[in-house]
Amino acid sequence: MNRLLLIFLICFPFVVQAQFDYSKAREKMVMNDIISRGVNDDATLDAMRNVPRHEFVPQDLRKRAYQDSPLPIGYGQTISQPYIVAFMTEAIAPQSDFKVLEVGTGSGYQAAILSEIVDSVYTIEIIDALYGQAKKKLKDLHYDNIHIKNDDGYFGWENNGPYDAIVVTAAAEFVPPPLIEQLKEGGRMIIPIGTPFATQQLLLVTKKGGKTKTKNLMFVRFVPFTRGEGS
Ligand code: SAH
Repeated sequence: MNRLLLIFLICFPFVVQAQFDYSKAREKMVMNDIISRGVNDDATLDAMRNVPRHEFVPQDLRKRAYQDSPLPIGYGQTISQPYIVAFMTEAIAPQSDFKVLEVGTGSGYQAAILSEIVDSVYTIEIIDALYGQAKKKLKDLHYDNIHIKNDDGYFGWENNGPYDAIVVTAAAEFVPPPLIEQLKEGGRMIIPIGTPFATQQLLLVTKKGGKTKTKNLMFVRFVPFTRGEGS
């Protein structure tokens, strides 16, 4: 047999296998890891079905993008577990006319999920390089209703506030007062609170009559909320 033909026949199954089916993996993730654990908000589930999570992880981890786990995104940071992203999204009860603030852009994935549902998303990332990468990725994927800035999110983003909801994706030791101020009356904030590098409590903070109420939703493990120079 012709040598080239023989090589082709041996390699063909591997070439076919290399075409990984991301949308199939994504649908499986939504069914097995998200719906099965009780997330049932339609808008949240649609967003989890639409956003290509594999675009937000490093190239060599793409095939693991739909696994039930967080993944490293460089600079000691992680993209959260898909279930946690869905849970936090559902917890703010997102509506189409919402303006949402996210602290901790990271890969940009949580911001993309929110932007599929709400009117506008403002997101802040403290690490320059991650900010640059996320800004480019969100622009390339045409998430045009996301505004991003490179800053210490402790202070929120006052000019555009107040916000209908705030999502914090790094573990703080207490709820930053500027974020409470920038939350609308009746608004919801979801934030992991606790000791860095340990288990934290995911809190739902609601604001009514100028006062806040907190509810512990579950135990989680997030990367630490860090502070900028000079703050
Ligand atoms: N939401 C992200 C997960 C990011 S991990 C995603 O979907 O990929 C938490 C992120 O918070 C990290 O990128 C970290 O650099 C950032 N971060 C930590 N402290 C911060 C602060 N004070 N202000 C803004 N970003 C912060």
